[in-house]
Amino acid sequence: MTIIDTPEAMRAWSFEQRALGKTIGLVPTMGALHEGHASLMRAASRGNDLAVLSIFVNPTQFAPHEDFNQYPRTFDADSRIAEATGASVIYAPRASTMYPERYSTYVIVEDVSQGLCGGSRPHFFRGVATVVTKLFNAVLPHRAYFGQKDAQQCAVIKRMTRDLDMDIEIVEMPIVREPDGLAMSSRNAYLSAEERARALCLSRSLFEARESIEAGERDAHTLVAQVRAGMADVQVDYVELVDGETMQPLERIAGTVLVAIAAWAGKTRLIDNIKFEV
Ligand code: AMP
Repeated sequence: MTIIDTPEAMRAWSFEQRALGKTIGLVPTMGALHEGHASLMRAASRGNDLAVLSIFVNPTQFAPHEDFNQYPRTFDADSRIAEATGASVIYAPRASTMYPERYSTYVIVEDVSQGLCGGSRPHFFRGVATVVTKLFNAVLPHRAYFGQKDAQQCAVIKRMTRDLDMDIEIVEMPIVREPDGLAMSSRNAYLSAEERARALCLSRSLFEARESIEAGERDAHTLVAQVRAGMADVQVDYVELVDGETMQPLERIAGTVLVAIAAWAGKTRLIDNIKFEV
């Protein structure tokens, strides 16, 4: 496994592999890897000749008051997971390489990035779309793997690749959960035992919403109210029921439906969702 830290060296490697007829799968991450990331890596290794893991804590997707400095950085442990899940390369560029002095170009995906996390974190998707574009331009993947854990991010990246004619297949992978239901997240490391116990109400209330829908409930307002009521143990940021592709709010449950939630357990902001076809 090779570690590469500049876009030039990354592209040189990818050009060489492409010339040999190899396919490349990319898994973009911010590191602090867990089983959710590992599931993406295994899919990338299975679905391509070569898999690249990128690790970059992207400053442009954090607002000044957010946890950029605090974000866990665990490169040695991440390398072991990368190796075990079949990575050929870890691409880990430096912030100063990614955003040199007078950096001034950003990718803005309209529409689908409004609302949900885009409402609570106004700079977030501009940072994400920009860094993913830069990672795509360096790694030149055939396929890129993203988790449904960040469902709106998946929708933004799919829209961006379509709109900007990027010849990259976006593969969305299911949410990996702890045995008790908590969606895996690098930020779970911030939670105290008491906060973690309270955080369980996120997945619990989503599972209850799924049961209600399976039992025939079709009114979005009723479901949103039900999910909110189940989240009394945390401070709700949003509870939304939206179309799974466009991220537009739904009145009635039909088609691809996403129930997306965000909440604070203490100082930690957590997100979770469920998606289904009705
Ligand atoms: P992050 O390092 O948090 O930016 O996440 C990198 C990628 O891993 C994103 O595509 C996430 O959606 C995905 N991911 C994070 N947590 C999970 C999870 N619990 N299950 C599946 N994918 C995940």
